[in-house]
Amino acid sequence: MTRNHSFNRVVCLFVSSLMFFVACSKREEQNALAGGELTLVENGKSSYAISIPPNAPAPTRFAATEIQKYIRSVSEAELPIQENSAAENVIALGPVQNSKYHLLDEHPGEDGFLVITNGSRIELLGTNPRSELYAAYWFLEKYLGCGWLYPGDDVVPKSENIKLPAAIVEIEKPSFSYRALMLFPYSLARSLQDIDWMAKNCLNYAHVAVNSSREGPVLGLRLWDKYKSRETFIPELEKRGLNLHFGGHTYFTWVPPEKYFQEHPEYFSLIGGKRVAKSLCISNVDVAKVAAENMIDFVKSNPETDVIDLWITDADDWCECAACRKMEPSARHTIQGGKDESKSDSAVQFVNAVANEFGKKYPKILVNFLAYSRVIDAPIRTKPAPNVLVGYAPISRAYNKRGSKEGYYSPLYDNTDKQNRAYLEEMNKWLNLTKNFYLYDYYTLWQSLGTSRSKLHKRLMEFFPIIETMGQDTWYYRYRGISGISTEQFDWPELNMYAYAHLIWDPNQSVQQIIEGYCRKYYGAAEAPMLSHWLALEQAKGEWKSRSAECLGYIEQA
Ligand SMILES: [Zn+2]
Repeated sequence: MTRNHSFNRVVCLFVSSLMFFVACSKREEQNALAGGELTLVENGKSSYAISIPPNAPAPTRFAATEIQKYIRSVSEAELPIQENSAAENVIALGPVQNSKYHLLDEHPGEDGFLVITNGSRIELLGTNPRSELYAAYWFLEKYLGCGWLYPGDDVVPKSENIKLPAAIVEIEKPSFSYRALMLFPYSLARSLQDIDWMAKNCLNYAHVAVNSSREGPVLGLRLWDKYKSRETFIPELEKRGLNLHFGGHTYFTWVPPEKYFQEHPEYFSLIGGKRVAKSLCISNVDVAKVAAENMIDFVKSNPETDVIDLWITDADDWCECAACRKMEPSARHTIQGGKDESKSDSAVQFVNAVANEFGKKYPKILVNFLAYSRVIDAPIRTKPAPNVLVGYAPISRAYNKRGSKEGYYSPLYDNTDKQNRAYLEEMNKWLNLTKNFYLYDYYTLWQSLGTSRSKLHKRLMEFFPIIETMGQDTWYYRYRGISGISTEQFDWPELNMYAYAHLIWDPNQSVQQIIEGYCRKYYGAAEAPMLSHWLALEQAKGEWKSRSAECLGYIEQA
């Protein structure tokens, strides 16, 4: 959230001007501040150094190398990295307490940061090491013109001169404390690019989904091990100070059939009168104990874990034994649609039992329950335990009537949309039960636009024009005091993901400006037709068929 404090700007201008006159005898100051501008690089050379505190944490050190790398890429100037330099011409990284201004320093851990000029010093200061890295990327994006638009594909302009305004005071603070990206499918190369993009766009929770829903050769912990994640993925996460949210659909990750079925078929679902490994028998207290023990074992060897999942199987199978059936207070249809009965009370009782055991060992790590499919409904008789985090997944918004106004074409608070109204009412019931709550969204799905005909048409179908809805949704979630948002990144529709990152930082931004900013940075000479294309898609989402020729025309121009 940008707060342009005019008072601070005036103070800073005054201070900068004063320091300019005082320091006129210093040659390097004259160079840096000549003409009311601050000269960072001139003709490919710089008098600046990058300064970090002694014994700086990993994200601060990484931030210094990133600044060095991108200034070199832009201008070929090589800035040395020094410890605690008090010199004038430095880019100084460190905690907000290092600022002479009393700003943000009462809110550690909230990922706020400052980008400030102080004489010829450029200070990039965070409320924690991770947000110092955010400050570095923010600075590079805003003042050097870099762009972090797509994972693994940075925009880096070339210029042998880099000049900045002499007085900068930027105070940034996120609107949501949990800003996540669901890494599914988890594959090493893609996930490494994704977490690089996450840090550059100020997200903080990397959600690894190993998804052991069914028996299979490479799922669950075997997938985590296959990529040697402890040696490859975790160091990259730690370097950026990002949090680890682990699991996905994990009933079988924590109670794997290949390990337990033969000896304990009673741990698994009774379906059609037979014990089968399609789901767990969640009324069995031993199953809760085994799941908790295996989750504890995972955290012991992966102590970076901040949130751990206990999600139902993605196939949505349920045990039919008498004890499991008794866990539901009464038969009721789920709001998900169809004739399926809700299983929310059963599933929340199970996650509570596991969280209770798990919490004895790791009380600060949250156990994540996904309100999804037949457990989307708020439970009637059961309340999530204090160490349970609820993710709310309104997935049917994306699978609704194709090309219509429904689902993701209007915000969740649209009272005229039947599906969204049902989701909103249920969300409100959940919010009465717990504040440990986040939206698990599907801003990357594209099915709503219908089927494809030609190849070009197919490419066009991959766009899912819901930027306006995302702006409205995020604004509303913020207004309701919801603290977290996540999305899957399955198809990675480029503009949606860029807008997602920007809106979960500050939902008050204009979506039109977000689209314009993206087109300006990413499309070069094709900026104008691509902007028209994206705006036409947004406007045409309700009448897709009649406007598709127009949108294809813009693509052909671009
Ligand atoms: Zn059962």
